[in-house]
Amino acid sequence: MTQAPKLVDTPAELRRTLRALQMGGARVALVPTMGALHEGHLDLVRQAKALAEKVVVSIFVNPTQFAPNEDFSRYPRTLERDVELLTQVGADFVYVPAAADMYPSGFTTQIVLEGPAQGLESTFRPHFFSGVAIVVSKLFLQSGADFALFGEKDYQQLKVVTRLARDLDIPIEIVPGPTTREPDGLALSSRNRYLTPEERATAPVIARALITAADAIRTGHTPVDAAAQARKTIAAAGLKVDYVEARHAETLAPLAEPGEPIRLLAAAWLGKTRLIDNIPV
Ligand code: AMP
Repeated sequence: MTQAPKLVDTPAELRRTLRALQMGGARVALVPTMGALHEGHLDLVRQAKALAEKVVVSIFVNPTQFAPNEDFSRYPRTLERDVELLTQVGADFVYVPAAADMYPSGFTTQIVLEGPAQGLESTFRPHFFSGVAIVVSKLFLQSGADFALFGEKDYQQLKVVTRLARDLDIPIEIVPGPTTREPDGLALSSRNRYLTPEERATAPVIARALITAADAIRTGHTPVDAAAQARKTIAAAGLKVDYVEARHAETLAPLAEPGEPIRLLAAAWLGKTRLIDNIPV
């Protein structure tokens, strides 16, 4: 019989609670989320439990990473169900800060990101990574966690956050987790619940097109041609493609030399829902 995670809702209580545990020798792993939890989040929690004695899952729908025309107000909020799921996987704490505690009046600090933050998501969501950078920096500093887990599902975010923690000497180890998928290949996402049944049936085309492109590159096609073909396949299924690109798997820079490690990344709109995915080559 697992216990429900303890609910913590202020930065001061979080810091005090986790610091005391660390003083006693426990390591703490943080799993930052926006809630509406699914099996992908829960896999990160399971991975966190294997790494550290105590696991804290934060749930905060971060307003600064949404543009005014995006889905902040309709983003799914399912706290009760989230707590049930976190009980099942044995999370120790759920941290649900108030927006007024995260962004007190007079909050004016910005983080300017370059390197892996350039292009891809930033071309279509220019506000996104600065909002992510602020909120994850605050969560890292508030928690003092030893580890933070991030899904490869949001591959560019993983690379941006890893660089951020390193560049700012935030003493936390960023640990990647593999993408959890539906049996038909669709990457799990809180936004999948926006999809109509017809859209849901179409959605795996993104993962399939990326797999085909990765195979094409491995058998000698150029990354540019393979990405262009994937874009065509996804568009032919009725999606509006933001990008399909082959990038350097570590720096996310455009490919420059043969033999570099490659990651294929894509974002596309299916009706009113924006889906992203990526795979290694
Ligand atoms: P979100 O709640 O969408 O902000 O995601 C919180 C964390 O869960 C991020 O590190 C995501 O990369 C990760 N995540 C989301 N979907 C998946 C998935 N399908 N597989 C693995 N990790 C995921």
